[in-house]
Amino acid sequence: MAAMAGPVIHHRTPAFAAVLAEVQEGLRELFGTTQDVLVLAASGTGAMEGAVTNLLSPGDEAIVVNGGKFGERWTKICQAYGVRPHEVVVEWGRAVRPEMVAEALDAVPAARAVFVQASETSTCALHPVPALAELCRRRDTLLVVDGITAVGVIDLPMDRSGIDVLITGSQKALMLPPGLAFVALSPRAWAATEQSRLPRFYFDFRRERRGIAERSTAWTPAISLINGLRIALTMLKAEGWQNVYARHDRLARATRAAATALGFRLLAPESPSPAATAILLPETIDGSALFRYLRDRMGVTFAGGQDALKGKIIRLAHLGYVDAFDVVVAIAALELALHHFGARVELGRGVGAAEAVLAEGLPPRT
Ligand SMILES: *Cc1c(COP(=O)(O)O)cnc(C)c1O
Repeated sequence: MAAMAGPVIHHRTPAFAAVLAEVQEGLRELFGTTQDVLVLAASGTGAMEGAVTNLLSPGDEAIVVNGGKFGERWTKICQAYGVRPHEVVVEWGRAVRPEMVAEALDAVPAARAVFVQASETSTCALHPVPALAELCRRRDTLLVVDGITAVGVIDLPMDRSGIDVLITGSQKALMLPPGLAFVALSPRAWAATEQSRLPRFYFDFRRERRGIAERSTAWTPAISLINGLRIALTMLKAEGWQNVYARHDRLARATRAAATALGFRLLAPESPSPAATAILLPETIDGSALFRYLRDRMGVTFAGGQDALKGKIIRLAHLGYVDAFDVVVAIAALELALHHFGARVELGRGVGAAEAVLAEGLPPRT
């Protein structure tokens, strides 16, 4: 926050070129790639749209894994640009099975790309991206991954996993305000940008790449956010990437243990995302009222469910700038609110179960 409140230095200066060079290095570590990581002044959806317009041509066919609100967004972007999406529909809360995508690839052999979320935030399920990458690698099909709640949460090295396009945004694991989108392309995805014929201007990835080569940006960058990004990447590097992933895993397991100990079911028990947890609420509880009570009367903000899940689930985020006590506070507030709403919960039971997991992550005694 302090870095972002600092002076706004001019972006075509040696001082800002040094900032860009430093964040580029950190972003490549974060993405697990030797490729350039483009930094766009946009929310995450901007990079999603750019992935479609930079890789594809009008009338192209694509496969979309649709297992929630964000999967649905890939379909809508494709449709907006005249790309023909073939959806692999996944029940909300489940992960796609690689066989389902293999079948779709067989059915649509001309598919130029497979679009998927690594972590489908609306259901808190994790899709098996490395297995999908293997399927796509064997063909001339690009794997495009919305990693917006996965990059910096799970170990998903782009180059080693064989991902063709990886995307994230500033406001999730990178702990920043919204406003930056990040995207990296594999060599074969860069080759596709030379063939694609969809219109693009602001989100022209080739133009952004030329900017990076000159330690600059195509357009005026979001300077203050990039100053914050420099510090955020420094913080993550100081913690150590593997420790960052272990922290997310631990907070997620603590949250799931708490929900289970309280007698609730998870929406995505088989392949849960370490970014956030969706808890199915008892039918007697009005989830929307519970959510509002938690936010407005207790000062603890959760997320509710969307569409068919509205009022039926409550989601706890445990990614980014969070630690053990954020989880403890959230579980304690949830227990108390549920108790107040007449649900049968044993007070302290969820907190106790969470603490049993969180105890693993305590720093050593000195
Ligand atoms: C948050 C999120 C987005 C981002 O959308 P915005 O454009 O930043 O609103 C996209 N995909 C997933 C999986 C997300 O969690």
